[in-house]
Amino acid sequence: MASIFGHAVAAYALGKGFSKTIVNWKFLLLGIICAILPDADVIGFSFGIKYGSFWGHRGFSHSLLFSLILGVLITAIFYSKNLTTKKGLLFILYFTICTASHAILDALTTGGLGVAFFSPFDTTRYFFPWRPIKVSPIGVARFFSKRGIGVLLSELIWIGIPSIVYILIAMYFKRNKK
Ligand SMILES: [Zn+2]
Repeated sequence: MASIFGHAVAAYALGKGFSKTIVNWKFLLLGIICAILPDADVIGFSFGIKYGSFWGHRGFSHSLLFSLILGVLITAIFYSKNLTTKKGLLFILYFTICTASHAILDALTTGGLGVAFFSPFDTTRYFFPWRPIKVSPIGVARFFSKRGIGVLLSELIWIGIPSIVYILIAMYFKRNKK
């Protein structure tokens, strides 16, 4: 994983790119939850599920199919009235992108196994060829250490700055649209 903060910032920034008519705290919060949720798979470690297995860390919960399923599910639960409308498609799009952003950021990190983007069709674990983000330690205790600070610094550069740039560009285009 990138850290929980890195994933949350990315989801928040992505949300800011959407129309003001649908963006509010509920929308952004759900997006952030989607961006963090794939790492719920780490509980598998306590049940003896191997890292490299189907349900292992960065396995199915980090796949593109899972992203789409979660996108539809979150929309169906929290925006049920909109599910079959054009707005509903935007909700599904956002929540899917947020979930997928998690896997994409993970595939940019320096450690662990790769991400099973195409699970269940292809369970190969992938990394991008360029991996600038320091991998976040699993578990809170290990996070608040010297290594944790290094992780936050690398995320500040590789997630924080692009997020701010993205938000500014989105704001610029939204202002010009009026
Ligand atoms: Zn992850």
